[in-house]
Amino acid sequence: KNLTKYYPVVKGAFKKVVGHVKAVDDVSFSVRQGETFGIVGESGCGKTSLGKCLVRLQETSSGELVFHDQDAGEMNLLKLTKAQSFRMRKKIQIVFQDPYSSLNPLKTVYTSFDEPLKIHHMGDKKKRMEIIAEMFRLINLNPDFMHRYPHEFSGGQRQRICIARALCVQPDIVVCDEPVSALDVSVQAQILNLLKDLQKSRRLTYIFISHDLSVVEYMSDQIAVMYLGQIVELANAKHLYETCKHPYTKALISAIPAIDYDKKPLRNLVEGELPNPANPPAGCNFHTRCPLADERCRSEEPKLRKIGDLEHHFVACHLA
Ligand code: SF4
Repeated sequence: KNLTKYYPVVKGAFKKVVGHVKAVDDVSFSVRQGETFGIVGESGCGKTSLGKCLVRLQETSSGELVFHDQDAGEMNLLKLTKAQSFRMRKKIQIVFQDPYSSLNPLKTVYTSFDEPLKIHHMGDKKKRMEIIAEMFRLINLNPDFMHRYPHEFSGGQRQRICIARALCVQPDIVVCDEPVSALDVSVQAQILNLLKDLQKSRRLTYIFISHDLSVVEYMSDQIAVMYLGQIVELANAKHLYETCKHPYTKALISAIPAIDYDKKPLRNLVEGELPNPANPPAGCNFHTRCPLADERCRSEEPKLRKIGDLEHHFVACHLA
């Protein structure tokens, strides 16, 4: 609820704070258990900062992170004691983009798995070994491979290992931060389908972050489109393609290549670069690149508001 993450901009030898980059700017959304919430946007739009705030790998500047626990009820994760925080940590895990840098090259995969299991007191050595072997079977790898080093696996195998490591502490929510963008297209589908199968069998909730709208659409129940730290459109994944209203979402969709190029040639609906987030434009953040921008767009910031008859469609655009 109203989550923000501002990074200070410092200058000079005395590191004087001269401004802030609003990486996440007043973002609110909700996700139900067993669903996938997709977050899409170009590089620098704040997706990864948001993901890291959700797993509390970095401090948020303000807002609430409300988690509804079946046993403990509703709680704001940003207001927990250290002991409560520790217990909650295993419920929300993250899979990073790059499977090459998210496993320690000097440790066997077994050690990388064993560490979180030990920290969260998930049994003695024998029990932990059984859990790791089960996780390997889950991702279709021979459990004997757990004693190998990361360089002995392919990129796709490493990402499967990273997914299994995130799942070994039995989380409820997994933040998947661009989990397939470092992989060959041929193994992307394997990883996406593995994530889907695991979601079904374990009733997992995903926050799925990607710059690739077609991948997000394949995975998600709801999709939020982010631009310069803000959600500019939020809709049911099934409806976003047909009913999107924000010019930025339309531009993203038009940039998805079709198999039949003659019927749908690629169109570039957005010119220019993302504005400097430390000095965002006045009015609508998108007006410097929007083909529909008018005087109002340059002075008045559009708020995210519900539109149309669909239960769940929100857009931040004056013309929607
Ligand atoms: Fe474009 Fe104006 Fe809508 Fe912003 S508010 S997206 S500038 S039409």
